Amino acid sequence: MAEKIVITSGKGGVGKTTFTINLGLALAKKGKRVVLLDFDFGLNNLDVVSNVEHLVVFDLIDVLNNRCRTKQALIKSPYNENLFVLPTSHSLNKDIENKNFKDVIEDLDVLFDYVLIDCPAGIDKGFHRAVLNSDSAIVVTTAHLSSIRDADKVLSILKSYKLRRTFIVVNRYRGDLALQGVMFSLSDIENTLNEDIIGVIPEDDNFINGVVDIPNLDCVKAYKIICDNLLKNERKIYDCFKKYKGFFGSIRKELKKKIWKIKKLIIGLKI
Ligand code: ADP
Ligand code: MG
Repeated sequence: MAEKIVITSGKGGVGKTTFTINLGLALAKKGKRVVLLDFDFGLNNLDVVSNVEHLVVFDLIDVLNNRCRTKQALIKSPYNENLFVLPTSHSLNKDIENKNFKDVIEDLDVLFDYVLIDCPAGIDKGFHRAVLNSDSAIVVTTAHLSSIRDADKVLSILKSYKLRRTFIVVNRYRGDLALQGVMFSLSDIENTLNEDIIGVIPEDDNFINGVVDIPNLDCVKAYKIICDNLLKNERKIYDCFKKYKGFFGSIRKELKKKIWKIKKLIIGLKI
């Protein structure tokens, strides 16, 4: 049986889709059979971000409308033979019932070890549909106040679903800003949300292309740690401050600080 994990956040643009794909790849590399399921009808982009858009023949809407079988809509990822994508499109018929979704999840349940569900932003019908079809949740937040507040709201709603496991992931974290006291500390976030942080992913320009598959990159290491935490039920956290420790680290930190000050000055002048 697969563990069905909904990746949610409340706020849009915090990195849910990017997280779904890169966590899926990390799990697939560990030999787990993983399917990424796009439940974001309307703003669906899992196929684009995971680079399988050109391979789509059928999608989830076709499966729900009985135009094809679940297996026919699965796309093998070019990144790993254990990783599959079940994309969607934006024309969800209003009379499709939750029973149809349950049937799809049942089909995937026997084929995979993990079903990662990319949830739409917000706490409307689409959010509830995604959570209803999951047994665990990962709430993605950034260290910004608006994102943390939305994550808090989502966590309180999730409580009513009695999920097996619920975790927080802090995305786009900047160790240099946290050391300057400009960004919330991880313990502040954990205490505010009152839930375990299962991972921290640094801000990294490599995510511009969606999937990051370059070994030894810091962000890939961060995903590997989250993957191990999930598999072994551990709580190791990627060290976002390592780069700013020691002699060269302190130079890097000072340089970043100066750049930050100059940026603020320029913004101030523009206003
Ligand atoms: P969501 O699905 O929550 O709307 P996306 O996954 O589409 O968010 O990500 C929004 C943007 O943030 C994308 O441009 C993506 O490349 C970027 N992004 C996500 N994670 C990171 C990260 N760790 N570092 C830098 N950029 C990131
Ligand atoms: Mg998304």
